Amino acid sequence: MKDPIVGIDLGTTNSAVGVVDSGFPILLADRDGRRLVPSAVYFGEDGEVEVGRAALRRRAIDPVVTSAKRLMGRRAGEVGSELGGLAVRDAGLGVVEIECGGGRGVTPEQVSAEILKALKAIAEERLETEVKRAVITVPAYFNEAQRGATKRAGEMAGLKVERLVAEPTAAALSYGLDRLGESSRVAVYDLGGGTFDVSILELREGVFEVLATAGNTALGGDDIDRALAEWVLGDEAAGVVDSRVLEEACRVKCELSEADEAVFRVPFYEGKRSLEKHVGRVDLERLLEPILEDAASCCRRALGDSGHGAEELDVVVMVGGSTRIPAVQRHVSEIFGREPDISQHPDESIALGAAIQAGVLSGTVQKVLLLDVTPLSLGIETLGGLMNVIIPRNTTIPCKAGEMFTNARDGQESMRVRVMQGERELARDNWELGCVEVSFSPGPRGQARVGVQFSLDENGMLEVLARDVATGVDMVLEIDSAAVDVSDESVERMVDESVAHAREDMAARVGAEARLKAEELVPAVEAVLGEGVSEGDAEERAVIEEVLRKVKELMHAEAGSELKAAVEELDRVTEALAARLVEEALGLQLERGLEE
Ligand code: ADP
Ligand code: MG
Repeated sequence: MKDPIVGIDLGTTNSAVGVVDSGFPILLADRDGRRLVPSAVYFGEDGEVEVGRAALRRRAIDPVVTSAKRLMGRRAGEVGSELGGLAVRDAGLGVVEIECGGGRGVTPEQVSAEILKALKAIAEERLETEVKRAVITVPAYFNEAQRGATKRAGEMAGLKVERLVAEPTAAALSYGLDRLGESSRVAVYDLGGGTFDVSILELREGVFEVLATAGNTALGGDDIDRALAEWVLGDEAAGVVDSRVLEEACRVKCELSEADEAVFRVPFYEGKRSLEKHVGRVDLERLLEPILEDAASCCRRALGDSGHGAEELDVVVMVGGSTRIPAVQRHVSEIFGREPDISQHPDESIALGAAIQAGVLSGTVQKVLLLDVTPLSLGIETLGGLMNVIIPRNTTIPCKAGEMFTNARDGQESMRVRVMQGERELARDNWELGCVEVSFSPGPRGQARVGVQFSLDENGMLEVLARDVATGVDMVLEIDSAAVDVSDESVERMVDESVAHAREDMAARVGAEARLKAEELVPAVEAVLGEGVSEGDAEERAVIEEVLRKVKELMHAEAGSELKAAVEELDRVTEALAARLVEEALGLQLERGLEE
């Protein structure tokens, strides 16, 4: 195989690499015949690095970095101070660094790059050729910064990243090639170690389209392990939980997927005292409730966004190691009202899908094309601090969209275009991705024209172009993680909050829009009244003045809907007057026309 493109599932807990060989997607195994590589890396004192099982074996003695994917593309201000028992710190400028022993630090990208290097080595050994190109999967919920970081990790490992593919899309692809009909709708429920994703996809004439996606980048098997460990420890679980206790929690959890009861045992937990407790499957299921409830709300949201009911789905595919838990399978069948399909190998299907996509790109697989969607809305901040959405959430990518903006003040010389990502109505509640200053020649209000265009490529990377229409001068803003402003909100919280705050956000938007309208209308009405309306009878004038006073009063109060009503009233009571003024103006023109 010459210059192959491999498919890689870079998971939080486990990673895998595959390729399409003689028309079939296969995963490539390491020397011990294992296809899953734990996403764990040990960084030695003298620069030696160990990845996977070899790294995990050191865990009892040395610090080993796991779950680094949770920190990919995040800023120091957004993440906690701890990851799997290791310290997380700010290496300056918000760059996240994980303490990996002896005071040394590594970035999440470096950790991922080591995992990718190990996968590359496995592929090179199996394929007996150099591997330089890869397709890598990312959670559908990864934002710009997280996708960018994944791409850079690939480059650091010496891989050209040909495409980033959403994990559920890859799962549907590995399920769907031969089993789906002409046009089918698929839900993919992926509960792994660190992330949860649910997507609704549609296969039409050999093309997959992601209709909607929702999820939580901080929800998975790790949380189940932690909940179980804390439950076992009870009052003792203050602060950091010992990694041995977490490992035992994970073992017991997996055992309970098969058995009704298991024994939780950590010998010599504290000196001579050992930890021992019988755990029933029912105990675990009780701990699972809040986690499954969170996942359920994501499912309902994805269905809602897709515009389809659960009964319109053809199949519900389960992937991710945690979907082996019987309670999860039961829960999914309740949400979707049907038995989920569990034929997919829970931990391998995403890598297989990535391999298929790689095969498509290298030409060994034909007839399948993948379309992904944007996980969050993209837009810019407009007057009044409102979020103006240019590319809505769940738009199929690649895509391009633009809008024309104008100067708000007379003589304004420049406009600040702030690029935002998020679902909230007020720009300040969303993430700022970057910002560009567009200058134009000053003129009266409304005269300058600035075209703003957003282009999202097939990897979900954003480029913003701002053009002064008069001069044709372009400003290009490429959004990468360096441009991502620190924000304490995580993506999933963003969406949840947009739902939670929908009512007050709407009120804020109504208020901001009413204020803008009032700022326009009030001076105009005052000007007319000041000139002394010629035939305006006193009664009409009094009514207008009364409403005008009310509007001005409300402009300074936080009363959006009342202001909106007052502005509408002002519009109404000045209607007759406005019409007369127009007539008068027309009349004047007519007279002038006759004089000439
Ligand atoms: P990721 O996509 O995050 O890398 P995986 O899909 O490989 O994760 O799933 C890993 C998770 O699945 C871990 O949290 C692991 O404990 C869990 N898991 C694996 N097997 C089982 C099982 N038999 N029962 C319950 N959970 C399991
Ligand atoms: Mg996964």
